[in-house]
Amino acid sequence: MIGFLKSLSRNRLSLAGLVVITAVIFVALVTPLLPLPDPDVIDTKNRFKTPFTTDAFLGTDHLGRDLMSRLLWGTRLSLAVGFCAAFLAALIGSSIGIISGFYGKHVDNILMRGIDMLMAFPYILLALAIVAALGPGLFNALIAVAIVNIPFFARNIRGVTVGITHKEFIDAARLSGMTDTRIIITEVLPNVFPVIVIAMSTTVGWMILETAGLSFLGLGSQPPQADLGSMLGEARAALITSPYTSVVPGAMILIIVMAINLLGDGIRDALDPRLKSGVLSSPRPRTLVADYSKTKNLDASELLSVSNLRTQFHISNRNYKAVDGVSLYAKKGTCLGIIGESGSGKSVTALSIMGLVSSPPGIITEGYVNYKGINLIQTNDQKLRSLRGGKISYIFQDPLSSLHPLYTVQQQLEEAILAHQNLSKEEVYQKCIELLKSVRIPNPKQRAKDYPHQLSGGMRQRVSIAMALANDPEVIIADEPTTALDVTIQAQILKLMKNLQQKTNTAILLITHDLGVVARYADRINVMYAGRIVERGTAEEIFHYPKHPYTLGLMESMPRLDQAPGSRLTPIPGQPPDLSDPPPGCPFHPRCRFAEARCRSERPPLEQITDNHWKACWVDTDAKR
Ligand code: ADP
Ligand code: MG
Repeated sequence: MIGFLKSLSRNRLSLAGLVVITAVIFVALVTPLLPLPDPDVIDTKNRFKTPFTTDAFLGTDHLGRDLMSRLLWGTRLSLAVGFCAAFLAALIGSSIGIISGFYGKHVDNILMRGIDMLMAFPYILLALAIVAALGPGLFNALIAVAIVNIPFFARNIRGVTVGITHKEFIDAARLSGMTDTRIIITEVLPNVFPVIVIAMSTTVGWMILETAGLSFLGLGSQPPQADLGSMLGEARAALITSPYTSVVPGAMILIIVMAINLLGDGIRDALDPRLKSGVLSSPRPRTLVADYSKTKNLDASELLSVSNLRTQFHISNRNYKAVDGVSLYAKKGTCLGIIGESGSGKSVTALSIMGLVSSPPGIITEGYVNYKGINLIQTNDQKLRSLRGGKISYIFQDPLSSLHPLYTVQQQLEEAILAHQNLSKEEVYQKCIELLKSVRIPNPKQRAKDYPHQLSGGMRQRVSIAMALANDPEVIIADEPTTALDVTIQAQILKLMKNLQQKTNTAILLITHDLGVVARYADRINVMYAGRIVERGTAEEIFHYPKHPYTLGLMESMPRLDQAPGSRLTPIPGQPPDLSDPPPGCPFHPRCRFAEARCRSERPPLEQITDNHWKACWVDTDAKR
């Protein structure tokens, strides 16, 4: 609720709408308490008094009735009728929608055909027909307006309910023995409720207008009773001679409907989780970089290096330091493994290199990414785009979501090639088949015509690798490339990557949480924890002589062939820290069995301990083990 109000208050216009409509409702509520003259008393002596005269603030109408009093009583009535109609329509329409969507089949058919019949008439015409049949009067106008709005709710809610009814949590509720009524109330209703509120908030204004329309035509409130519509209708005859008699109710209708609609928009934005997560806000083409003017001369002989990179996520006043001062480098023809538990900042590090972290909320606050002397964080969009998928390419974890479901393998590969190379149609096709061959896809000419869903998981990942290789990259960043695959396919894919790497002399950044994978394929290893590198060294050093308690913990939790029979794996106790509020000192100390007093207060820097080994830890773990 507080979150809802917060996100509502962020929308200035909606907030203004909320203030205005609250004020109007408040005035309408206290109207009977105000010292106003009777709105219906006729006083023909004082006809058409202009506004701001001593005893009639807004003037009087054609029968000498006080306009201020009529306006407030009329507003009260119009609001009451509008809200009642909206509530009735929402209640009946949503019930029909939920029942129809939940039970489906015949129930759905019968109810929806009934709704279709209502929808077959233009609704103003339908409302007029209903009032004509029931007889004029405000209550009948209310019923007419409610009825013509039922289909809107029924259709909307049915659609949402159908989507929910086939979800697993409904099946689970059924399996647990709940009755249909209970499922509808406890499982379906909470999920469709926001939609009902959204639909209501956007239609209330419309219903007030419709009621006013019927009253304007003389079918709603009957004289002498005032509502906004009937006031407008009666003032019509004096539109030219005494325009204020029309302007007063007209302005009120405008204010009410505008305020309600602005508020409705705000409610919709605040309640719709898709809008909340920012999915619909347009993503930036690259990660935002905090303004920092430090520049240094970068070494043009380096292939790719990252120094002191900091990437943060700014989410509602909290600042998540996902990458907190990471330095690493890629070297031609070698594989750098980056390991760490899930959430340690591996992916964000990799995505930051090419400015692919989504902004907002991501922001790079410091650091350099040096690609042959160019700082990729500061270079222009065009340069960055030419490198993405060209000299630096990515392989992502889930091959199904990284391939486009509606294009064939060939179309996607050709698109990837043509984005960076200028080749003829025939050349592109040849290259595409060659690529598929190079990743050992059998029968490439046939397979090229397949869609992603026709391929197995391993095949799809091969296609992703082929795409990554399409423009002869110098660096391939592979983010958990085999995590979605089963073990045998995993081994094949990794072996393939290794072979390709040796043949083409590319550098690979291999990100994984699987120690077994880096053990076999990486030349150097960086161990990450809470957005920092805590240990680094050659694969040999890290595996045979691990020094950081976190690396030791990772090793002990990994099954090994040389494990003594009957011995157990020991997991690392505790949870990774909250990155917006990491513990003081070494962020690993709450989980560390060697922690000393110093670890709790002072943050250890990454220091070199031997030729090929660095660690960020105060403790001499060898002595303590
Ligand atoms: P991993 O090491 O498993 O790849 P990530 O680099 O994906 O971890 O994530 C590091 C941290 O950054 C996590 O705490 C995660 O919650 C946070 N994070 C990642 N992406 C986003 C995002 N788009 N918005 C907010 N937080 C994010
Ligand atoms: Mg990741």
